[in-house]
Amino acid sequence: MPLQLIENASLGPFNTFGVDAHAVFLARITAVEQLAELEALSAVSGLPRLILGGGSNLLFTGDFEGVVIKVDIPGLSELEPGADHWHIEVGAGEDWHATVERLLAMDRPGLENLALIPGQSGAAPIQNIGAYGLELAERFHSLRAWDVEQRRVIEMSLADCNFGYRDSVFKHQLAGRRVILSVTLALPRQWQPVAGYADVAHELKARAIAKPGARDIFDAVVAIRRRKLPDPALIGNAGSFFKNPIVARDKLQELLQHFPSLVSYPMSGGRFKLAAGWLIDAAGLKGVTRGRAGVYEKQALVLVNRGGATGREILALAHEVQEKVAAKFGVSLEPEPVIV
Ligand SMILES: Cc1cc2nc3c(=O)[nH]c(=O)nc-3n(C[C@H](O)[C@H](O)[C@H](O)COP(=O)(O)OP(=O)(O)OC[C@H]3O[C@@H](n4cnc5c(N)ncnc54)[C@H](O)[C@@H]3O)c2cc1C
Repeated sequence: MPLQLIENASLGPFNTFGVDAHAVFLARITAVEQLAELEALSAVSGLPRLILGGGSNLLFTGDFEGVVIKVDIPGLSELEPGADHWHIEVGAGEDWHATVERLLAMDRPGLENLALIPGQSGAAPIQNIGAYGLELAERFHSLRAWDVEQRRVIEMSLADCNFGYRDSVFKHQLAGRRVILSVTLALPRQWQPVAGYADVAHELKARAIAKPGARDIFDAVVAIRRRKLPDPALIGNAGSFFKNPIVARDKLQELLQHFPSLVSYPMSGGRFKLAAGWLIDAAGLKGVTRGRAGVYEKQALVLVNRGGATGREILALAHEVQEKVAAKFGVSLEPEPVIV
């Protein structure tokens, strides 16, 4: 298949905020050879690059004066299993949730806690997607990526990716430098439920399920997410707009003196994760509207496009949230999506 290069392409259909923006070029990549082909084109030489998956974790604040590389590489295949894990290689262009469902149907459970996360499989390692007590890193074997400088395919192991909380090497040293082509998952052959997360435990209890199977957890997670999060097909959003901030014990204790109902979770190293949604709500911002942007009524961590908002309007609201939370709690909130 030859490379598909679209000039002056609209990015509206390719971001879940539904923000209107254009790129000088949009390259749709279905095979690795097309990346080499793209680099050889004089028309795109010297232009900035942006790698794009499903556009569910980024905010366009204006037009992109360069080439958007939209990764559409398909495929799902089972590789030689390890002693303890099934190994499944998934093309970067495969929809993440559809992959979770498909693997469940193939009797390869292990991703059910990560059901209904929008976006493509190739983007999952970028921020080490996580939800309801599980992170991609716990189900990851390796990935294949195109190195844009060396112009060759490189295999990366779990250690190479340096995964952290909503973090990886792809957000730092390798930002924009590796186009992920496929991800190989490691799914446990002896499956055990991950059902300790409070919301999941409550949902299973409400459904009178004492010994959940993978399908039960999948159904519970899907139901919780449908209740709590806006569907991007109906209300533009990028999920959680801020990461949960991490503070030292001293800071937590100081905050608890003033705000006894503050929500926090202990982490390793004597540090604590604060619920950013709680902070935003307590700063009086849940449900507010500024122009055509807003803070979602049911979950203050989510910023929404109430219809026709520009990326700049959404960003201005994000700054207001950061300022008000910093002024009230002395805590800084870091955006989770990539701001372009
Ligand atoms: C309603 C909603 C709920 C969400 N819930 C969660 C959640 O529970 N947990 C969570 O972790 N996230 C969540 N997200 C965020 C988002 O779904 C994930 O981060 C997802 O992995 C992004 O995938 P994407 O394909 O849309 O990536 P994009 O938004 O297209 O890109 C995100 C970043 O990844 C890079 N990228 C994308 N594809 C590639 C590739 N093939 N190679 C190299 N770089 C690439 C981009 O350059 C960009 O930096 C949610 C989003 C929404 C809208």
